[in-house]
Amino acid sequence: MKILLVEPNYKTKFPSMGLMKISTYHKKMGDQVTYVKGENMYVDIPDKIYVTSIFTYDYHHVAKSIQFYRQQFPKAKIWLGGLAATLIPKHFENLGVDYIHKGTWDEVEDEELDYSLHPSIDTTIMFTHRGCIRKCPWCCVHIHEPRYIFKENIGKYIKMEFDKISCWDNNTLANPQFEEVINVFKSVQKEVDFNQSLDIRLLTIKKAKLLKSIKIFPLRFAFDDIKYKESFLKGVEICKKVGLKQECRVDVLYNFEDTPEDFYERLSYVLDAGWMAYPMRYKPIFTPDKAFLGKNWTKEDLARYDKFCKSMLGRVGDFINPRSYVYYKGERIKLKEVIKKRMLDIPSPAEQRKYMKEIKGIKSEQMELF
Ligand code: SF4
Repeated sequence: MKILLVEPNYKTKFPSMGLMKISTYHKKMGDQVTYVKGENMYVDIPDKIYVTSIFTYDYHHVAKSIQFYRQQFPKAKIWLGGLAATLIPKHFENLGVDYIHKGTWDEVEDEELDYSLHPSIDTTIMFTHRGCIRKCPWCCVHIHEPRYIFKENIGKYIKMEFDKISCWDNNTLANPQFEEVINVFKSVQKEVDFNQSLDIRLLTIKKAKLLKSIKIFPLRFAFDDIKYKESFLKGVEICKKVGLKQECRVDVLYNFEDTPEDFYERLSYVLDAGWMAYPMRYKPIFTPDKAFLGKNWTKEDLARYDKFCKSMLGRVGDFINPRSYVYYKGERIKLKEVIKKRMLDIPSPAEQRKYMKEIKGIKSEQMELF
């Protein structure tokens, strides 16, 4: 059988793990497998086409791929899977798809990944479990992976020729086999990135010591709701006490049910800990539409924050570094103080340069702005 694996043309940093597993599954059966990104005119006529999907707001890319291959290969069976297929299946029903798979696919779940689809990858990609014990309202994990299932023999997923492991677990610290997981990582001596972040509410001294026993880079947590401020601060203390000193990055959700005030408060706690903050704007998960205004946010609030990001960080959606400085009216101010004092309308570095030149007579080359 000829199999075509299609990853639509959306931007993503990560490959489709699902397609990599399906590739192994079919190759084991002796099938011929071809992988393509987006729409490609020059592929052999396939018997079956698998199209994957991720974010609902990338719906149009997925729809375009489905329609393209449906037209090219009217007799091929088209199967659609992935996150968007699970969350908004009805949107894909009339595009010519034969089957829409929702959630993970048990038959291929434990297949090894076919790294040959992506020769440039030099990192093991893996899960040590699926699902999450929580059901945060802004998150779709409990819909895509409704059961928390930890995996056995995780060592088999690790590619010894790669130095790093990118672990896509949704809540590693909830794994009852956490110690065993760490022991496996310790035994292979690879650098591990829990790239979906760790649940700081579940951090204990014991778990922090286990984390310290392996090479982790970076350390990642999330601080999505002010309601768990105490747990967050306790987690910060635990990390300090245990000596988890590597760079820490914290996802900070905003524009959901939070308020601008509590968002800036959470940012301040993160930066005060000496950790990098990564603000993440909420986007709806049950609609292909990206536009969303949190119930406690106004368009002006978002615009003000965007302007601040563009002038201070260069773009919206970047890390805020607790060690960054900004010069304002000749004073050197830490960026975290700017946030703490809500000085979001602080002029951009270009405007400040102009000010320094015109008012203070200082040449721009004498100024260090960050
Ligand atoms: S803890 Fe993380 S993965 Fe689990 S439901 Fe909440 S946001 Fe999703």
